[in-house]
Amino acid sequence: MIDIWERTLDWKPSPQQQELFQRLYELIIEGNRQLNLTRITEPEDFWEKHLWDSLRGVKFLISQQNREDKEINLIDLGTGAGFPGIPVAIAVKNCTVNLVDSTKKKINFIDSILPELDLNNVFATTCRAEEIGRESQHRETYDIALIRAVASASACAEYTLPLLKQQGLAVIYRGNLTEEEITNMENAVEQLGAVIESIEQFNTPISNSDRHCLYLRKVASTPAKFPRGVGVPAQRPL
Ligand code: SAH
Repeated sequence: MIDIWERTLDWKPSPQQQELFQRLYELIIEGNRQLNLTRITEPEDFWEKHLWDSLRGVKFLISQQNREDKEINLIDLGTGAGFPGIPVAIAVKNCTVNLVDSTKKKINFIDSILPELDLNNVFATTCRAEEIGRESQHRETYDIALIRAVASASACAEYTLPLLKQQGLAVIYRGNLTEEEITNMENAVEQLGAVIESIEQFNTPISNSDRHCLYLRKVASTPAKFPRGVGVPAQRPL
């Protein structure tokens, strides 16, 4: 897959990074025997939908990293079995990643595989996005927040933006994205102190599936009333 990494992300994984991706695959397959972690288990599918897709959303970090040596603090909300956060922690230099999920057994699984991957820049936390966004040791402390396949676009905005520092970036990974969702987002993002910086549309390199990434830039402090209580952002999107 090296040529696809080079062609699509302008990046070449080191032998050590390739080994970690392989090890991650084995650990997920092993974990899947006991836990229902993912339906994506064929090697090529895993590569495309878990590894490539996770990194494509942060292409700007991957391609530029030779020039950047600043420490980056990331959070991945609703990480499930560790996506997109774990591949990002493997691929991006000088980053710390906090993996958050509301399901304890998923975080227990992640805690069990981190020592096997020897990743000392990753932490895992069992918490709801609506709660961690209200904790002072997390609120407005992250440079980048990632969120994939967790909720509607505007609920994702409400989960991620309170956690970002000013000028921080939320990356919302989507499959399809409708005009209506974009219009709703504009309204949500304004209330949360951010702007839609860009929306990227692309296709995955093997199965040619449709993908979108929304990039939200935080430009003002998020009002204290956000995120609203558990369940509210999903039930009554802004
Ligand atoms: N991001 C992963 C998993 C997506 S499945 C991937 O793309 O593969 C959605 C995950 O989000 C589940 O593990 C679920 O437990 C978690 N989740 C859903 N709502 C959440 C919330 N409000 N706060 C924290 N985690 C949440």
